[in-house]
Amino acid sequence: MAQAERHGGRTAVVDSQGSFTYNDLLDASSRVASELLAGHDDLQEQRMAFLLAPGFPWVAVLWGIWRAGGVAVPLPLNCPRSELEYFIDDTKASTLVFDALGEPQLAPIAEARGIRALRYDQVLARRPAELPDVASERRAMILYTSGTTNRPKGVVTTHANITAQITSLIEAWEWSADDRIVLFLPLHHIHGIINVVSCALWSGATCEVLPRFDASAVWERIAGSSLTLFMAVPTIYVKLIAAWDAAPPERRAILSQACAKLRLMVSGSAALPVSTLERWKEISGHTLLERYGMTEIGMALSNPLRGERVPGSVGKPLPSVEVQLVGENGEPVTPGMPGEIEVRGPSVFAEYWGKPEATRDAFRDGWFRTGDTAVVENDVYRILGRTNIDILKTGGHKVSALEIEEALREHPAVAECAVVGVPDLEWGERVAAAVVLNDGGALDLASLRAWAKEFLAAHKLPSRLLVLDALPRNAMGKVTKPAIKAMFRSEGDGN
Ligand code: AMP
Repeated sequence: MAQAERHGGRTAVVDSQGSFTYNDLLDASSRVASELLAGHDDLQEQRMAFLLAPGFPWVAVLWGIWRAGGVAVPLPLNCPRSELEYFIDDTKASTLVFDALGEPQLAPIAEARGIRALRYDQVLARRPAELPDVASERRAMILYTSGTTNRPKGVVTTHANITAQITSLIEAWEWSADDRIVLFLPLHHIHGIINVVSCALWSGATCEVLPRFDASAVWERIAGSSLTLFMAVPTIYVKLIAAWDAAPPERRAILSQACAKLRLMVSGSAALPVSTLERWKEISGHTLLERYGMTEIGMALSNPLRGERVPGSVGKPLPSVEVQLVGENGEPVTPGMPGEIEVRGPSVFAEYWGKPEATRDAFRDGWFRTGDTAVVENDVYRILGRTNIDILKTGGHKVSALEIEEALREHPAVAECAVVGVPDLEWGERVAAAVVLNDGGALDLASLRAWAKEFLAAHKLPSRLLVLDALPRNAMGKVTKPAIKAMFRSEGDGN
């Protein structure tokens, strides 16, 4: 907030309704805070859940909740009522804030539970009142992270955690007030909230907000605006590549040239296929900076802003983040061997909301156990995948599904693929590959195995194959591997 006062008249947010300065943001958020307080001194960490269209009002509500001493619970758009009810009930939210978009979903939930409902436009009439001082150790936000088996857990971060997550990225990627970024990522996830919106607003930069991701609208912003930064998940780069491929040659040239104005393009939240990195480089001239992070820890590992970015790697620990790789019993791994990533530092979250046991289990000797496996090669980390789903145990060997996927994507018929392990009496697990084929492509298991022999050791060859029209993905665009495992199970042992 103190940062925002320094940037007063600069443009903070541009959305479909217009341009808003830092002063506008301070004013609107103080009105939101005053309305939320309703005469009390401090919300004392009451949970405030909110659902608004991405844009200036969304940010004003987030800041208003923080300034009033509340805990922000950003809710996902396009989500079934039962899920919204789960987030609202789990956090015991005392107030729901929404705009015209969120009203049809939240108003009935508020009414059924008898909890306070506030519409953003009504809040703005409020005269700003005195606001509390909120200590940095206090809880600030709860983001839900979907587990593969259990209901999503609420990840609680304090103001100090969020500050550490933001300042680490600002230092590493050299954010400044001259930056301009476009947001199209969902606003219930760390990527959009911290890496894009919060880093921009801490720096005095400008954040252009699109209502949602749309490949041609995003290309339009790249071509027609003075963006300096761009952050997306791998599937978005794939969609942007498809839109570029579909454009006429003159338009392609314009789009490619426009990319030269950007100073940095980042990918993260899922593994970036090397083929996507290479194709994007051909189109844009940018070597994507790949980084690794998680709702619980913010960003932990990153390729460098300056210096060599190694394709397929996620670089080194970010400022103020400590990272170590450990074996199954928490012992440090021999250099060069794979291990589970553990993270420590001020950006690591405080607790899972209302789940003391899950919180205890998530830490070992003060280190957060990420559940991801990685290896350090030539001083940089390479992610091998989620320990419980991407690390397959077959014939006594541990193999990384991500490595096999990287290899399968080299096959000319394969557009996309996902590898999982399926239980097998003889092998422990068998390697099973679900693939989406390129238009006109054809593939069967025998031809795939014959082809793959050239570069995959025998035990890594897929022994099950499923050709799909599309890979199942969650709202963040991540492939949902448990769903793929279930498909193989229901197929039976067809091979
Ligand atoms: P989320 O909490 O939704 O951001 O998901 C975090 C998870 O995404 C991590 O635990 C990783 O499994 C995965 N992830 C994030 N970044 C990368 C990356 N660069 N490469 C591979 N996996 C990643």
